[in-house]
Amino acid sequence: SSPSGKPPLKVLLCSPRGFCAGVVRAIDTVERLLATHGAPVYVRHEIVHNRYVVEGLKRKGAIFVEELEEIPDTTAPVVFSAHGVAIEVREEAERRNFVSIDATCPLVTKVHREAEIHHRRKREILLIGHAGHPEVDGTIGQLPPGSVKLIETLADAENVQPADEKNLAYITQTTLSVDDTAEIVACLKRRFPAISGPHKEDICYATTNRQQAVKQVASSVDALIVVGAPNSSNSQRLREVAEREGCKRSFLMQRAAEIDWDQLGDIRVLGVTAGASAPEVLVEEIIDAFAQRYDIEVENVSGVTESMFFPLPRAVRPTEAAE
Ligand code: SF4
Repeated sequence: SSPSGKPPLKVLLCSPRGFCAGVVRAIDTVERLLATHGAPVYVRHEIVHNRYVVEGLKRKGAIFVEELEEIPDTTAPVVFSAHGVAIEVREEAERRNFVSIDATCPLVTKVHREAEIHHRRKREILLIGHAGHPEVDGTIGQLPPGSVKLIETLADAENVQPADEKNLAYITQTTLSVDDTAEIVACLKRRFPAISGPHKEDICYATTNRQQAVKQVASSVDALIVVGAPNSSNSQRLREVAEREGCKRSFLMQRAAEIDWDQLGDIRVLGVTAGASAPEVLVEEIIDAFAQRYDIEVENVSGVTESMFFPLPRAVRPTEAAE
C-alpha cells in the first residue's frame, strides 16, 4: 500500500461521458422557464432520466407529472421531456389551452419525421426499441395505431411477418446498443432486402460515443461503474457493453451511497463512465468516495471529442424572449 496506508487504485475515466446536447437543452429549457416565468413550471415525465436533476428542478418550482390530466387548468408553461411525446399528447395540450414547450431532443424528432415519411409512402414500419420506454411510446404515437410494429430482439426480427415486404421500413430508438442493433438490422436486411432505413442511423452520436469509450477500457478494468439511473436506456446499455466486452463486474449507480464495497471486491483498476442524463457532479461524488478508501490515480481515456450543440426551443431562446 501507499504512504497513505490506502491501497492503490487506478481510475480510468471514460470520455466522452455524461450529459449530451439533448439533455443540456432540455434542462436549460426548464431552468430558463423557471427564471423567466417563475414557479410553477409543469414538466410531463422526468425531463431527463436522472433523479438528482429532477429533484434540483423540483426545488426551484418545477412540477413533474406523468400525464397531462394531472395538471390543473393553468397558464403556467408545460414542458415535454427530451424523450418526445405522442401526437395525442400535443393535441390534448392544445385542447386544454396549455402553453406547451417542447424539449424533445432534435435527434428524437428526426426519427419522428422519418416515421412520418415512411408512413406517407405507405410503408409498414418496424421500430427497433424497448417496450415501455417513453421515447418508444412517443415515436409509435406519431402515427395512427397499428402503423408501427416494435422489434425488441433478434428473435423478433427473425419472426416478424410484414404484410408486404416490398413496402417496409425500419427506424430505431436513439439509445440502443450499437452492436445489438447492427445484428437486428442485418437480420432484417437479409430477410427483407428491399427494406428502407435511415440515411444516417437513428442511434444518436452521444449513445455511440459513450459505448465506444466504454469498449476502450472494458477489458483492462477489474470493475466498471456507470453513473446513471435504472430507467435510463443509454446508461443501461453502457453497463451491458462493458459486460459484453468482458468486464464481469459492471454496475449502474446513481449516487456514492449505492456503492456496494463488498460486491466490488478486490480491485486495482476501476473504469468510470456516465450515461447521457447523469451530471458530472455525481461522477465526482463517486470518485471522491473511492478516494476516501483508496489512493487513487485518475487517468482520462478519451475517445472522440464532441462538439454537438442544440439551440434552445424558440419560445425560451434568450434573444427572442427579449424582443
Ligand atoms: Fe438526444 Fe441522444 Fe441525448 Fe437522447 S441521448 S437526448 S437522443 S443526444
